[in-house]
Amino acid sequence: MQITANNPAKKSWLSVDKQSDFPIQNIPFGVFITKDDLVTIGTRIGEYAIDLAAMHQLGYFEGIELTDDIFLQDTLNDFISHGKKCWRQVRNRIAHIFDQENGTLQNNKKHKDIILFDVNEIEVQLPVNIGDYTDFYSSRDHATNVGKMFRDPDNALLPNWLHIPVGYHGRSSSIVVSGTPIHRPKGQTFPKDATSPQFGPSKLIDFELEMGFITTDANHLGDTIDVDDAESYIFGMVLFNDWSARDIQKWEYVPLGPFLAKNFASTISPWIVTMDALEPFRVELAPQTDPKPFAYLQEKRHTSFDIHLETFIETENGDLNKMCSSNFKHMYWSMAQQLAHHTVNGCNVNSGDMFGSGTISGPNEGSYGSMLEIAWQGTKPVQLKDGTERKFINDHDHVIMRGYCEKDGVRIGFGKCTGKILPTK
Ligand code: MN
Repeated sequence: MQITANNPAKKSWLSVDKQSDFPIQNIPFGVFITKDDLVTIGTRIGEYAIDLAAMHQLGYFEGIELTDDIFLQDTLNDFISHGKKCWRQVRNRIAHIFDQENGTLQNNKKHKDIILFDVNEIEVQLPVNIGDYTDFYSSRDHATNVGKMFRDPDNALLPNWLHIPVGYHGRSSSIVVSGTPIHRPKGQTFPKDATSPQFGPSKLIDFELEMGFITTDANHLGDTIDVDDAESYIFGMVLFNDWSARDIQKWEYVPLGPFLAKNFASTISPWIVTMDALEPFRVELAPQTDPKPFAYLQEKRHTSFDIHLETFIETENGDLNKMCSSNFKHMYWSMAQQLAHHTVNGCNVNSGDMFGSGTISGPNEGSYGSMLEIAWQGTKPVQLKDGTERKFINDHDHVIMRGYCEKDGVRIGFGKCTGKILPTK
Protein backbone atom coordinates (compact mmCIF):
# COMPACT_ATOMS: atom_id res chain seq x y z
CA MET A 1 0.00 0.00 0.00
CA GLN A 2 1.29 3.40 -1.02
CA ILE A 3 1.89 6.18 1.51
CA THR A 4 -0.28 8.71 -0.33
CA ALA A 5 -0.26 11.02 2.71
CA ASN A 6 3.41 11.89 2.01
CA ASN A 7 2.81 13.51 -1.40
CA PRO A 8 4.80 16.79 -1.15
CA ALA A 9 2.39 18.52 -3.55
CA LYS A 10 -0.59 17.93 -1.27
CA LYS A 11 -2.11 21.00 0.42
CA SER A 12 -4.73 21.12 3.13
CA TRP A 13 -7.87 23.26 3.19
CA LEU A 14 -6.82 24.09 6.75
CA SER A 15 -4.33 26.95 6.70
CA VAL A 16 -0.82 25.86 7.67
CA ASP A 17 2.07 28.26 8.25
CA LYS A 18 5.20 27.58 6.18
CA GLN A 19 7.25 27.09 9.34
CA SER A 20 4.70 24.78 10.96
CA ASP A 21 5.84 21.34 12.11
CA PHE A 22 2.41 19.99 11.18
CA PRO A 23 1.59 20.26 7.48
CA ILE A 24 -0.74 17.70 5.90
CA GLN A 25 2.31 15.50 5.18
CA ASN A 26 2.86 14.93 8.91
CA ILE A 27 -0.41 13.59 10.45
CA PRO A 28 1.02 12.54 13.82
CA PHE A 29 -1.03 10.79 16.51
CA GLY A 30 -1.70 11.94 20.05
CA VAL A 31 -4.26 12.07 22.84
CA PHE A 32 -5.91 15.25 24.05
CA ILE A 33 -8.67 16.59 26.28
CA THR A 34 -11.11 18.92 24.53
CA LYS A 35 -12.44 22.13 26.06
CA ASP A 36 -15.58 20.11 26.90
CA ASP A 37 -13.42 17.81 29.03
CA LEU A 38 -13.62 14.82 26.70
CA VAL A 39 -10.55 12.70 26.13
CA THR A 40 -9.93 11.55 22.57
CA ILE A 41 -7.29 10.29 20.21
CA GLY A 42 -6.41 12.92 17.67
CA THR A 43 -4.07 14.32 15.11
CA ARG A 44 -2.89 17.80 14.28
CA ILE A 45 -2.69 19.94 11.14
CA GLY A 46 -1.27 23.44 11.54
CA GLU A 47 -2.87 25.04 14.58
CA TYR A 48 -5.83 22.63 14.57
CA ALA A 49 -6.27 19.55 16.75
CA ILE A 50 -8.48 16.99 15.03
CA ASP A 51 -10.75 14.66 17.00
CA LEU A 52 -10.39 11.22 15.39
CA ALA A 53 -13.10 9.65 17.56
CA ALA A 54 -15.59 12.21 16.24
CA MET A 55 -14.39 11.65 12.65
CA HIS A 56 -14.86 7.91 13.09
CA GLN A 57 -18.36 8.34 14.57
CA LEU A 58 -19.32 10.55 11.62
CA GLY A 59 -18.22 7.85 9.17
CA TYR A 60 -15.01 9.32 7.79
CA PHE A 61 -13.09 6.07 8.25
CA GLU A 62 -15.65 3.89 6.47
CA GLY A 63 -14.04 0.92 4.76
CA ILE A 64 -11.13 0.68 7.20
CA GLU A 65 -11.35 -2.18 9.67
CA LEU A 66 -11.56 -0.41 13.04
CA THR A 67 -13.54 -1.14 16.21
CA ASP A 68 -16.14 1.52 17.09
CA ASP A 69 -14.26 2.82 20.13
CA ILE A 70 -10.71 2.60 18.74
CA PHE A 71 -10.19 6.38 18.97
CA LEU A 72 -12.47 6.90 21.97
CA GLN A 73 -9.65 6.01 24.35
CA ASP A 74 -7.16 7.75 26.55
CA THR A 75 -4.14 5.96 25.07
CA LEU A 76 -3.01 4.90 21.59
CA ASN A 77 -2.01 1.37 22.66
CA ASP A 78 -4.98 -0.45 21.05
CA PHE A 79 -4.67 1.50 17.82
CA ILE A 80 -0.93 0.80 17.75
CA SER A 81 -1.69 -2.94 18.25
CA HIS A 82 -3.62 -2.87 14.95
CA GLY A 83 -0.30 -2.77 13.09
CA LYS A 84 1.38 -0.91 10.29
CA LYS A 85 -1.20 -1.52 7.55
CA CYS A 86 -3.95 0.03 9.67
CA TRP A 87 -1.83 3.06 10.69
CA ARG A 88 -1.09 3.67 7.03
CA GLN A 89 -4.74 3.37 5.96
CA VAL A 90 -5.88 5.79 8.66
CA ARG A 91 -3.14 8.30 7.95
CA ASN A 92 -3.79 8.16 4.20
CA ARG A 93 -7.50 8.68 4.86
CA ILE A 94 -6.92 11.70 7.09
CA ALA A 95 -4.67 13.25 4.44
CA HIS A 96 -7.43 12.61 1.87
CA ILE A 97 -10.19 14.18 3.99
CA PHE A 98 -8.14 17.31 4.66
CA ASP A 99 -6.82 17.65 1.09
CA GLN A 100 -7.89 20.99 -0.40
CA GLU A 101 -9.33 19.11 -3.41
CA ASN A 102 -11.76 17.28 -1.10
CA GLY A 103 -14.91 19.19 -0.15
CA THR A 104 -16.65 16.52 1.97
CA LEU A 105 -15.69 17.77 5.41
CA GLN A 106 -14.46 21.12 4.16
CA ASN A 107 -18.04 22.11 3.24
CA ASN A 108 -19.76 20.56 6.25
CA LYS A 109 -19.80 23.26 8.94
CA LYS A 110 -21.70 21.09 11.44
CA HIS A 111 -19.09 18.31 11.24
CA LYS A 112 -16.18 20.76 11.33
CA ASP A 113 -17.54 22.23 14.57
CA ILE A 114 -17.48 18.76 16.13
CA ILE A 115 -14.12 17.60 14.75
CA LEU A 116 -11.83 20.64 14.82
CA PHE A 117 -10.30 22.37 17.84
CA ASP A 118 -7.88 25.24 18.24
CA VAL A 119 -4.67 23.66 19.60
CA ASN A 120 -4.57 26.36 22.26
CA GLU A 121 -7.92 25.15 23.59
CA ILE A 122 -6.96 21.52 24.11
CA GLU A 123 -4.74 19.83 26.66
CA VAL A 124 -2.32 17.21 25.35
CA GLN A 125 -1.92 13.99 27.30
CA LEU A 126 0.72 11.27 27.47
CA PRO A 127 -0.14 9.53 24.17
CA VAL A 128 0.57 5.94 25.23
CA ASN A 129 0.45 3.82 28.32
CA ILE A 130 4.17 3.03 28.37
CA GLY A 131 4.55 -0.50 29.71
CA ASP A 132 8.31 -0.65 29.52
CA TYR A 133 11.03 1.84 28.80
CA THR A 134 14.58 1.07 27.70
CA ASP A 135 17.29 3.66 27.18
CA PHE A 136 20.16 3.07 24.79
CA TYR A 137 23.51 4.82 24.53
CA SER A 138 23.96 4.80 20.78
CA SER A 139 25.65 8.08 19.86
CA ARG A 140 29.33 7.46 19.36
CA ASP A 141 30.23 11.11 19.91
CA HIS A 142 28.32 11.18 23.21
CA ALA A 143 29.84 7.94 24.46
CA THR A 144 33.30 9.18 23.42
CA ASN A 145 32.84 12.53 25.18
CA VAL A 146 31.68 10.88 28.41
CA GLY A 147 34.55 8.39 28.19
CA LYS A 148 37.06 11.21 27.73
CA MET A 149 35.72 13.05 30.77
CA PHE A 150 35.34 10.15 33.17
CA ARG A 151 37.88 7.61 31.97
CA ASP A 152 40.78 7.64 29.56
CA PRO A 153 40.88 10.23 26.74
CA ASP A 154 42.94 7.79 24.65
CA ASN A 155 40.55 4.87 25.17
CA ALA A 156 37.32 6.77 25.54
CA LEU A 157 35.00 4.03 24.22
CA LEU A 158 34.61 0.98 26.43
CA PRO A 159 35.60 -2.28 24.67
CA ASN A 160 31.98 -3.46 24.27
CA TRP A 161 30.61 -0.26 22.72
CA LEU A 162 31.28 -0.99 19.04
CA HIS A 163 29.90 -4.54 19.40
CA ILE A 164 26.75 -4.03 21.50
CA PRO A 165 24.02 -1.39 21.30
CA VAL A 166 24.51 -0.69 25.03
CA GLY A 167 21.33 0.02 26.98
CA TYR A 168 19.59 -0.32 30.34
CA HIS A 169 16.03 -0.78 31.55
CA GLY A 170 14.60 2.53 32.67
CA ARG A 171 11.35 3.28 34.43
CA SER A 172 8.14 4.17 32.62
CA SER A 173 6.05 5.48 35.56
CA SER A 174 7.88 8.82 35.57
CA ILE A 175 7.70 9.54 31.84
CA VAL A 176 5.60 12.68 31.46
CA VAL A 177 4.19 14.70 28.59
CA SER A 178 5.73 17.98 27.47
CA GLY A 179 4.83 20.91 29.71
CA THR A 180 4.88 18.96 32.98
CA PRO A 181 7.10 20.77 35.53
CA ILE A 182 9.78 18.69 37.27
CA HIS A 183 10.91 19.18 40.87
CA ARG A 184 14.64 19.01 41.47
CA PRO A 185 15.24 15.54 42.95
CA LYS A 186 16.94 14.83 46.27
CA GLY A 187 19.44 12.06 46.66
CA GLN A 188 22.82 10.82 47.74
CA THR A 189 25.97 12.27 46.24
CA PHE A 190 29.67 12.15 46.97
CA PRO A 191 31.11 15.53 45.97
CA LYS A 192 34.76 15.65 44.88
CA ASP A 193 36.06 17.48 47.97
CA ALA A 194 33.89 15.61 50.50
CA THR A 195 35.10 12.84 52.78
CA SER A 196 31.74 11.09 53.12
CA PRO A 197 28.51 10.87 51.10
CA GLN A 198 26.00 13.73 51.36
CA PHE A 199 22.21 13.85 51.12
CA GLY A 200 20.25 16.73 49.62
CA PRO A 201 18.92 18.30 46.43
CA SER A 202 20.89 17.37 43.32
CA LYS A 203 23.18 20.21 42.26
CA LEU A 204 23.87 18.89 38.77
CA ILE A 205 20.55 18.56 36.91
CA ASP A 206 21.05 17.98 33.21
CA PHE A 207 18.98 17.39 30.09
CA GLU A 208 19.69 14.63 27.61
CA LEU A 209 18.66 15.42 24.04
CA GLU A 210 17.24 12.13 22.82
CA MET A 211 14.59 10.73 20.55
CA GLY A 212 12.28 7.93 21.57
CA PHE A 213 10.55 5.33 19.44
CA ILE A 214 7.34 3.51 20.33
CA THR A 215 6.65 -0.06 19.26
CA THR A 216 3.66 -2.25 18.54
CA ASP A 217 3.38 -5.84 19.80
CA ALA A 218 6.47 -7.29 18.21
CA ASN A 219 7.36 -10.76 19.48
CA HIS A 220 6.37 -13.42 21.98
CA LEU A 221 8.61 -14.26 24.89
CA GLY A 222 11.42 -16.44 23.59
CA ASP A 223 11.21 -15.19 19.99
CA THR A 224 13.60 -12.75 18.37
CA ILE A 225 13.05 -9.96 15.84
CA ASP A 226 15.06 -9.99 12.63
CA VAL A 227 17.00 -6.77 12.21
CA ASP A 228 15.60 -6.23 8.69
CA ASP A 229 12.00 -6.60 9.95
CA ALA A 230 12.50 -4.57 13.11
CA GLU A 231 11.40 -1.20 11.77
CA SER A 232 7.96 -2.49 10.77
CA TYR A 233 7.23 -2.86 14.51
CA ILE A 234 7.99 0.80 15.20
CA PHE A 235 4.91 3.01 15.26
CA GLY A 236 6.66 6.35 15.44
CA MET A 237 8.97 8.73 17.21
CA VAL A 238 8.91 11.53 19.77
CA LEU A 239 11.38 14.02 21.18
CA PHE A 240 12.69 12.78 24.48
CA ASN A 241 14.36 14.70 27.30
CA ASP A 242 15.90 12.12 29.59
CA TRP A 243 16.50 14.35 32.63
CA SER A 244 19.55 13.31 34.63
CA ALA A 245 21.06 14.14 38.02
CA ARG A 246 24.76 13.84 37.29
CA ASP A 247 25.95 14.02 40.92
CA ILE A 248 23.55 11.27 42.02
CA GLN A 249 24.49 9.24 38.93
CA LYS A 250 28.20 9.37 39.68
CA TRP A 251 27.82 7.99 43.21
CA GLU A 252 25.12 5.37 42.60
CA TYR A 253 25.91 3.84 39.22
CA VAL A 254 28.51 1.32 40.35
CA PRO A 255 28.05 -1.62 39.83
CA LEU A 256 24.48 -1.93 38.49
CA GLY A 257 24.14 1.23 36.41
CA PRO A 258 21.73 4.19 36.33
CA PHE A 259 18.94 4.28 38.92
CA LEU A 260 17.55 7.29 40.85
CA ALA A 261 19.66 9.75 38.84
CA LYS A 262 17.54 8.87 35.82
CA ASN A 263 14.10 7.75 36.97
CA PHE A 264 12.81 10.96 38.59
CA ALA A 265 11.47 12.16 35.23
CA SER A 266 11.73 11.93 31.45
CA THR A 267 9.70 14.18 29.15
CA ILE A 268 8.28 13.33 25.71
CA SER A 269 6.70 15.48 23.01
CA PRO A 270 2.93 14.84 22.72
CA TRP A 271 2.51 14.04 19.00
CA ILE A 272 3.95 10.73 17.78
CA VAL A 273 5.30 11.20 14.27
CA THR A 274 4.90 7.95 12.32
CA MET A 275 7.71 6.11 10.58
CA ASP A 276 5.67 6.52 7.37
CA ALA A 277 5.84 10.32 7.73
CA LEU A 278 9.60 10.15 8.36
CA GLU A 279 10.30 7.88 5.37
CA PRO A 280 11.20 10.71 2.92
CA PHE A 281 13.92 11.86 5.31
CA ARG A 282 15.76 8.55 5.53
CA VAL A 283 19.56 8.81 5.19
CA GLU A 284 22.35 6.27 4.88
CA LEU A 285 24.64 5.79 7.84
CA ALA A 286 28.36 5.13 7.44
CA PRO A 287 28.96 1.38 7.05
CA GLN A 288 30.01 -0.40 10.24
CA THR A 289 33.21 -2.14 9.21
CA ASP A 290 35.64 -1.77 12.11
CA PRO A 291 34.49 -3.94 13.77
CA LYS A 292 31.79 -5.58 11.70
CA PRO A 293 28.80 -6.28 13.95
CA PHE A 294 27.56 -9.83 14.58
CA ALA A 295 25.27 -11.20 11.86
CA TYR A 296 22.11 -10.56 13.89
CA LEU A 297 22.95 -6.83 13.83
CA GLN A 298 23.89 -6.60 10.16
CA GLU A 299 21.25 -4.71 8.19
CA LYS A 300 20.55 -4.82 4.45
CA ARG A 301 20.49 -1.03 4.64
CA HIS A 302 22.00 0.74 7.63
CA THR A 303 19.99 3.94 7.79
CA SER A 304 18.69 6.66 10.07
CA PHE A 305 16.64 9.82 9.59
CA ASP A 306 17.75 13.39 8.96
CA ILE A 307 16.08 15.07 11.95
CA HIS A 308 17.43 18.45 13.04
CA LEU A 309 17.39 18.73 16.81
CA GLU A 310 17.75 21.79 19.03
CA THR A 311 17.75 22.46 22.74
CA PHE A 312 17.09 25.85 24.34
CA ILE A 313 17.09 27.15 27.89
CA GLU A 314 14.42 29.76 28.45
CA THR A 315 15.33 31.82 31.49
CA GLU A 316 12.73 33.40 33.81
CA ASN A 317 12.87 36.73 31.91
CA GLY A 318 11.77 34.94 28.72
CA ASP A 319 15.17 34.92 26.93
CA LEU A 320 15.61 31.94 24.66
CA ASN A 321 19.18 30.61 24.72
CA LYS A 322 20.15 27.99 22.17
CA MET A 323 22.30 25.40 23.88
CA CYS A 324 22.90 22.99 21.00
CA SER A 325 21.93 21.83 17.49
CA SER A 326 22.33 18.15 16.76
CA ASN A 327 20.84 15.62 14.36
CA PHE A 328 19.39 12.13 14.71
CA LYS A 329 21.55 11.00 11.77
CA HIS A 330 24.58 11.07 14.08
CA MET A 331 23.55 7.76 15.66
CA TYR A 332 25.95 4.82 15.34
CA TRP A 333 23.38 2.09 16.06
CA SER A 334 20.06 2.30 14.22
CA MET A 335 16.66 1.76 15.85
CA ALA A 336 16.37 -1.55 13.98
CA GLN A 337 19.66 -2.72 15.47
CA GLN A 338 18.54 -1.62 18.93
CA LEU A 339 15.32 -3.60 18.62
CA ALA A 340 17.05 -6.67 17.16
CA HIS A 341 19.56 -6.59 19.98
CA HIS A 342 16.88 -6.06 22.63
CA THR A 343 15.04 -9.22 21.51
CA VAL A 344 18.00 -11.43 20.55
CA ASN A 345 17.72 -13.16 23.95
CA GLY A 346 13.95 -13.65 23.58
CA CYS A 347 12.87 -10.56 25.55
CA ASN A 348 9.36 -9.61 24.39
CA VAL A 349 8.32 -6.14 23.25
CA ASN A 350 4.75 -4.84 23.52
CA SER A 351 2.50 -2.16 22.11
CA GLY A 352 3.34 1.16 23.76
CA ASP A 353 6.85 0.24 24.85
CA MET A 354 9.32 3.08 24.57
CA PHE A 355 12.98 3.12 23.60
CA GLY A 356 15.32 6.07 24.08
CA SER A 357 18.17 6.62 21.64
CA GLY A 358 20.61 7.83 24.25
CA THR A 359 21.92 11.37 24.20
CA ILE A 360 22.37 12.51 20.61
CA SER A 361 25.64 14.38 20.24
CA GLY A 362 27.24 15.39 16.97
CA PRO A 363 30.95 15.62 16.20
CA ASN A 364 31.39 19.34 16.91
CA GLU A 365 31.11 21.57 19.95
CA GLY A 366 27.71 23.14 19.53
CA SER A 367 26.22 19.77 18.66
CA TYR A 368 26.57 18.16 22.09
CA GLY A 369 23.30 16.90 23.52
CA SER A 370 23.80 17.43 27.27
CA MET A 371 25.05 20.17 29.58
CA LEU A 372 27.64 17.70 30.86
CA GLU A 373 29.30 17.86 27.45
CA ILE A 374 28.38 21.45 26.48
CA ALA A 375 29.99 22.88 29.63
CA TRP A 376 32.51 20.00 29.66
CA GLN A 377 31.91 18.85 33.25
CA GLY A 378 31.56 22.42 34.45
CA THR A 379 34.93 23.57 33.10
CA LYS A 380 33.41 25.65 30.26
CA PRO A 381 30.37 27.48 31.66
CA VAL A 382 27.94 28.82 29.09
CA GLN A 383 27.13 32.54 29.09
CA LEU A 384 23.40 33.21 28.77
CA LYS A 385 21.74 36.35 27.37
CA ASP A 386 20.72 37.58 30.84
CA GLY A 387 24.38 37.60 31.94
CA THR A 388 24.20 34.49 34.11
CA GLU A 389 26.24 31.34 33.54
CA ARG A 390 25.17 27.72 33.28
CA LYS A 391 27.12 24.56 33.94
CA PHE A 392 23.93 22.62 34.52
CA ILE A 393 20.21 23.50 34.86
CA ASN A 394 19.01 26.04 37.45
CA ASP A 395 15.65 26.11 39.19
CA HIS A 396 13.03 27.87 37.04
CA ASP A 397 14.97 27.16 33.82
CA HIS A 398 12.64 26.00 31.11
CA VAL A 399 14.31 23.42 28.83
CA ILE A 400 12.81 23.33 25.34
CA MET A 401 13.65 20.75 22.68
CA ARG A 402 12.58 20.95 19.07
CA GLY A 403 13.03 18.62 16.13
CA TYR A 404 12.13 18.76 12.45
CA CYS A 405 12.93 17.32 9.01
CA GLU A 406 13.04 19.39 5.85
CA LYS A 407 13.27 18.30 2.19
CA ASP A 408 11.71 19.23 -1.16
CA GLY A 409 9.84 22.14 0.40
CA VAL A 410 8.19 19.93 3.02
CA ARG A 411 8.95 20.45 6.68
CA ILE A 412 7.57 18.05 9.22
CA GLY A 413 8.38 18.28 12.90
CA PHE A 414 7.72 17.12 16.40
CA GLY A 415 6.53 20.35 17.99
CA LYS A 416 8.06 21.00 21.39
CA CYS A 417 9.26 18.89 24.26
CA THR A 418 9.43 21.24 27.25
CA GLY A 419 9.86 21.03 30.98
CA LYS A 420 10.66 23.49 33.73
CA ILE A 421 12.81 22.63 36.72
CA LEU A 422 11.17 23.69 39.99
CA PRO A 423 12.88 23.80 43.41
CA THR A 424 13.09 20.61 45.47
CA LYS A 425 9.82 19.59 47.13
MN1 MN B 1 19.40 8.76 28.58
